[in-house]
Amino acid sequence: MTKISNINSPQTRTAQAGIGDDPAFNAVTPPLYTSSTYVWPDMETKGPYDYGRTVNPTRDMLARALTRLEGGAGGVITNSGMAAVDLCLNLINADALVLAPHDCYGGTHRLLTHRARQGRLKVVFVNQADAAALDEAFAARPAMVLIETPSNPLMRLVDIDAMAQRARNLGAISVCDNTFMSPARQNPLAFGCHIVLHSTTKYINGHSDVVGGAVIAGTSGHAEQLHWWANTAGLTGAPFDSWLTLRGLKTLHARMDVQEGNARALADYLAAHDQVDRVYYPGLESDPGYNLARQQQSGPGAMLSFEIAGDFRRAKTFLSNLHIFQLAASLGGTESLICQPALMTHAGMDPAARREAGIQDNLIRVSAGMEALEDLIADFERAFQSAA
Ligand code: PLP
Repeated sequence: MTKISNINSPQTRTAQAGIGDDPAFNAVTPPLYTSSTYVWPDMETKGPYDYGRTVNPTRDMLARALTRLEGGAGGVITNSGMAAVDLCLNLINADALVLAPHDCYGGTHRLLTHRARQGRLKVVFVNQADAAALDEAFAARPAMVLIETPSNPLMRLVDIDAMAQRARNLGAISVCDNTFMSPARQNPLAFGCHIVLHSTTKYINGHSDVVGGAVIAGTSGHAEQLHWWANTAGLTGAPFDSWLTLRGLKTLHARMDVQEGNARALADYLAAHDQVDRVYYPGLESDPGYNLARQQQSGPGAMLSFEIAGDFRRAKTFLSNLHIFQLAASLGGTESLICQPALMTHAGMDPAARREAGIQDNLIRVSAGMEALEDLIADFERAFQSAA
């Protein structure tokens, strides 16, 4: 059986995810256990597996693989990325304050806003790049500090080390949404964050055929609380989804390398284009996040955004003349996807909150896929000509 604990390279760990984890037959491909329930040896003795909401061998294999990749103490696989965010919110009491980025994923913004309206927590949305606004928010003593870096969709970076330290000084729990980077590009726990979460729907699964999430904790104390809440609230993921995600995970590094290469070239192409006002990509030297990206990320990743010169109509004409980029509200799959965040991914945010975050109607978000770069650029070129 492979001694995976002796392997240090993340590429090797990822390619071998699940190997050495099947005690029954030592299968190379992780087995799929669909049973919802397990036989007890006798009524006073519970085996390691009893009920599928609580524990499942396939889901546990994925949790172990992601925990190793993020360098955590334990993790929970949830049924969506939003369930992962919601699971973390169970760690704080009613009336506690959450400090969240004002430009976070629209679904996260909606969840926090509506939980606050129900009186189930308090939230302050802050531009985490604004030092004075951050000082004011920390002075209100948040119990949880949420970071999303790079942010969706404006690719703004936050210094994980500095934010985690400030949270720690207050006794607050720091949580980093690492969806845009995946463990192949960023490990927030290594910078002192308490908890890292993912929408595994994106890069970790990578094939746009599963909706799922993961929460990985740096300490066994937080991991146990997360397990308890995931079981109690029924937030855990389905076995088949975990199995597919384990399968997708094996190629994470290879996919990220190719997709990031395409994203870099697309960012250069867009930055030089006269129909583009601004490109948001931390791999560009001109990007405000360039230096920080080099400190805390092992690459700029495969997501970028840009503002097309002109208004909403220009963006619409451009998007409706693309043939290879698919107009769809997700990211991180092998195919290139494109969207207009204001109407699509961030429609759940109040228009005023969207404007405040800087998400304009001419903003376009790109998830670079694995297609040939020349085809992607030709697709953009054709669409720009149609929109001229
Ligand atoms: N976090 C980020 C950064 C996201 O982009 C998304 C979805 O797009 C989520 C969380 C929510 O994930 P899911 O759609 O899997 O619930």
